[in-house]
Amino acid sequence: MKTVFECRSREDAMVARSVLESSGIPVELLSGGMQDMNPLFNVDLSGYTLVVPESFGEDALAVLADYRSPEQRADGPGPALPVSVSGPAVDGNAAMSLARSVAGRAVAHRRALHAIPEVGLDLPRTVAYVRSALSAVGAIVRDCGPGLVCDFGREGPLVAIRADMDALPITEETGAEYASTIPGSMHACGHDAHAACLLAIAELLALRPPTGWRARLIFQTGEEGAFGAPPMIEAGCLDGVRAIVGGHVGDLSGELQPGQAGFMPGAMMAASDRFAGSFVGSGGHGSAPHQALDPIPALAQFILAVQSFRARRPDQRVPFVLSVCQVESGTAFNIIPGEASFKGTARTLAPAERELAKEGLLAACQGAALACGVEYRYEWLDGYPPVVNDPASTELAMAAARSVLGDGQVRLLTVPSMGGEDFAYYLRMVPGCFWFLNTQAPERGISHPNHHPAFDLDESLLDRMIAVNLAAAEALARSTGA
Ligand SMILES: [Zn+2]
Ligand SMILES: [Zn+2]
Repeated sequence: MKTVFECRSREDAMVARSVLESSGIPVELLSGGMQDMNPLFNVDLSGYTLVVPESFGEDALAVLADYRSPEQRADGPGPALPVSVSGPAVDGNAAMSLARSVAGRAVAHRRALHAIPEVGLDLPRTVAYVRSALSAVGAIVRDCGPGLVCDFGREGPLVAIRADMDALPITEETGAEYASTIPGSMHACGHDAHAACLLAIAELLALRPPTGWRARLIFQTGEEGAFGAPPMIEAGCLDGVRAIVGGHVGDLSGELQPGQAGFMPGAMMAASDRFAGSFVGSGGHGSAPHQALDPIPALAQFILAVQSFRARRPDQRVPFVLSVCQVESGTAFNIIPGEASFKGTARTLAPAERELAKEGLLAACQGAALACGVEYRYEWLDGYPPVVNDPASTELAMAAARSVLGDGQVRLLTVPSMGGEDFAYYLRMVPGCFWFLNTQAPERGISHPNHHPAFDLDESLLDRMIAVNLAAAEALARSTGA
């Protein structure tokens, strides 16, 4: 165990080190100076961390508190060093203290990544940034499918922490100084924060490797519908892994207040399947429908049939969403088109409902086509399976979150999200827990939902993502035994 001091600048860190060393206190300096270490990116990572062995923690605290700058001031001695103590010496909550010591750099990483959003499976600049930041803290980075992994620790059970890194095809409207520099792309789901927090965890683990367990950090691409998890699993990212944990920022549960963490055993997020198709008739003049075969009434009946199916067939107490989200047909007010197409999504939590949705949509399509005398094309596309948390892992992760954040900041969720997440694929292979952190700050205008062009997050809450993921991973490792 070490004691961690956070400094605001490299100069302060250098002064603090010389003050401590001249008092006989050994110092290990973990610089946050990415500008020095990372020539690829011109990023100013404010915040530098000084680390001393715990046995010297109180002495170091006293020496730094007594120190005054030699600079002469009319109103008395020079200013104290702006160094804050964030290590266990002043706070029994080790995970949170450690997280705070790197939170400043998590924010800097997040802003750097936020400025270069990339969409899909292939994220060359993002992956280069993450690789470089990991190498800078001495981590051995491995390519794994389209993403990266790195391990920390020498022996004991291996537990993974996963972050996704991809952005969305949205034009950013936050007006933030760190806003996207890539037109049409934006980190509107907070994956920049996930990756940044995992980089902060890497920094902590590089400094203080886990003892009695091992950590694997998984940096994944292509979460937003591009199926990023399966190729990483195929490439071995879960080999040897006993359990996995991952969190999501933003506002994914109406049950959470800003700053709160939410957990849910069992099905927490929905299968995100898609359907698409079209009705095919024969075009003609708008004034003479008898000479044409109009596909538009078939499309209209299909849409209504889907909604009445949803309202009458599934058990109404079970979450079940069918949305027709895109329709396309026609070119002018007086031309009957030859074809009318649709696309939509089905969200369910269990295999039985998933099958029911498949059947119901097909029947609605067939029925509408038959009634209108047109042909149909219909396709169901399996999306991500539901996110199903292992109950025992969830209990452990939740207990870890309570110990880190306090009871009032952790909630057991009662209602699942109907959003999808490809974290589901990891949970089909190993037990684990996905959880939500509400990172909104409505009083500062940070209140837009995930995927909104003005989406942003309260960066002062990122220490919670760091601390809970780390504490939960350790708790899962300790529970699995050697
Ligand atoms: Zn998203
Ligand atoms: Zn997301």
